[in-house]
Amino acid sequence: MPDFIPPAKPIIGDEERAAVDRVMRSGMLAQGPEVAAFETEFAAHFRLGRACVAVNSGTSGLHLGLLSSGVGPGDEVIVPSFTFAATANSVALTGATPVFADIDPASFCLDPESVRACITERTVGVMPVHLYGHPADMVGHLAVADQHGLQVFEDAAQAHGAAIDGRPVGSFGTFAMFSLYPTKNMTSGEGGMVSVDGPEVERLMRLYRNQGMERQYENEVVGFNNRMTDIHAAIGRVQLTKVGAWTRQRQANAAFLDAHLVGVTVPPVAAGVEHVYHQYTIRVPEDRTGFATALREEHGIGSGMFYPIPNHRLAPFQADVDLPVTERAAAECLSLPVHPSLGQPDLERIVSAVNAVAKAGA
Ligand SMILES: *Cc1c(COP(=O)(O)O)cnc(C)c1O
Repeated sequence: MPDFIPPAKPIIGDEERAAVDRVMRSGMLAQGPEVAAFETEFAAHFRLGRACVAVNSGTSGLHLGLLSSGVGPGDEVIVPSFTFAATANSVALTGATPVFADIDPASFCLDPESVRACITERTVGVMPVHLYGHPADMVGHLAVADQHGLQVFEDAAQAHGAAIDGRPVGSFGTFAMFSLYPTKNMTSGEGGMVSVDGPEVERLMRLYRNQGMERQYENEVVGFNNRMTDIHAAIGRVQLTKVGAWTRQRQANAAFLDAHLVGVTVPPVAAGVEHVYHQYTIRVPEDRTGFATALREEHGIGSGMFYPIPNHRLAPFQADVDLPVTERAAAECLSLPVHPSLGQPDLERIVSAVNAVAKAGA
């Protein structure tokens, strides 16, 4: 069998290694000038038009973003159930309650009308996830939020560079978090970048990140040590110079799959939207596990199920809610390799394998 094609593959080059070495030689390893430069360069690169604050993980970014937006015990924040558990975890970690709403079957992202139906007198915010790199319907979410006096928070963990009518994700909410975990569209090793709407949220983010201190030993709030190191920031700064080309490659790979897959439902893209294809997710309504096994065992092609158990059914949450679109997506979703390391022969192998497995199952 030919070489295995993995479902994801972080790209680390000589430039990243040299950047790490530069920081190691400087002797200053913790948060410092590299982090400050990374924050400025990230905001500029993605044209966010607002300040960014770097933290040690995407999950920390969501957690601190919510705290800095005033979310706490007694509050409810509406989130999708069809996402990585960090979305709901971060709400629960503030003492607030995550309330699970359903998704749009086309984009797999939170549905504004389902959100509307979940609003109570305790609801303070809504946190759409730009899942798989496809932007959530931010126009719809902002309209519902406006009507009900809610804040909007963005989980942009998977969506570096995605946009709606030319406006980048990460520029809509009170804050937005981009994850820098190795399998995301760009990485710093571990890390998160949070774009913030205004100086007060920014100041609180910086306080919570650093033990509640803006000036040393003058602690203002109970804070965390969620700082990013200069080693990680140096990796991220190099990746920023490459992520644009990687995104274009992801989009070209997705276009090839769209054009050549037959007998499976390819992922639709909403009008006016820039999809950055963190994942390329098809639906397999019958025997998804058998489909994935055949891809792996017979064709050497990896795939992923993101996410097979919706958050509202996970042990920490166990919410008694009816989310039919979420349940169906969780049962059917299968993500194929779309990462920028794929070559043309890899793409052709993926197409012929998926088409063959789909035909055999039909
Ligand atoms: C990866 C991810 C997170 C968490 O980011 P980490 O950097 O791994 O902490 C949160 N939400 C979503 C949707 C993610 O994919």
